[in-house]
Amino acid sequence: MKPLQITIDGPAGAGKSTIAKALAKRLNIAYVDTGAMYRGITLKALRQGIDLEDESAFAFVLTTAFSYQDQALHMDGENIEEAVREQAINEHVSLVASHLTVRKALLKLQQDLASQTAVVMDGRDIGTHVLPQAPYKFFLTADVKTRAKRRLSDTVKAGKPQDLAFIEADIIRRDHIDSTRLHNPLRAAQDAITIDTSNETISQVVDRLYGIIREEENHYGNEKP
Ligand code: C5P
Repeated sequence: MKPLQITIDGPAGAGKSTIAKALAKRLNIAYVDTGAMYRGITLKALRQGIDLEDESAFAFVLTTAFSYQDQALHMDGENIEEAVREQAINEHVSLVASHLTVRKALLKLQQDLASQTAVVMDGRDIGTHVLPQAPYKFFLTADVKTRAKRRLSDTVKAGKPQDLAFIEADIIRRDHIDSTRLHNPLRAAQDAITIDTSNETISQVVDRLYGIIREEENHYGNEKP
């Protein structure tokens, strides 16, 4: 039987990670944050001091190992959960994620992970390219002000508060690069359920997604048409 696959895509700050993590916990399956992988590659590139515009400098992606240990993402054995949330990563990750060399290597890693175990996977191209056969696909959106406020509260919780207008501009800039890039741009899959989370709490959205999945699984099991 194929492991269960649930995809959650959407723009920056739509609540994807928090919702995907909570949903995975409720379903007792793994959560894979693909954005954190692109952030990890950006971290490694910045540490190496390579020219981020030069795609040929990214061959190291092929020998970079990602794994989850105690639900924390590790890159080459190092826990990178905190390091990838730094502002320098926000600034450069969309450029790094636009390189085909990077996308191809991470796509393969992500597909391998999902073939081994049931997952909720979130990102920008999961429903369209990484797991196009997934039986459950969601696309989460929210207006940009709501998304910026959510990011602001993340930065406050992390003890590194940022300016709201700065966060909003950063989100708009990243969304633009992510949705206009040549390779696997941010898009809702044709068969994805789109949910505007602007006026809903995170737990309301989790309840909704959980309800949709449970209902379908009860009807069709793993053979959803
Ligand atoms: O989800 P998060 O905001 O952490 O993602 C960081 C960046 O990684 C995105 O802005 C995008 O450029 C890139 N990304 C991507 N494809 C994915 C996940 C993230 O291009 N599947």
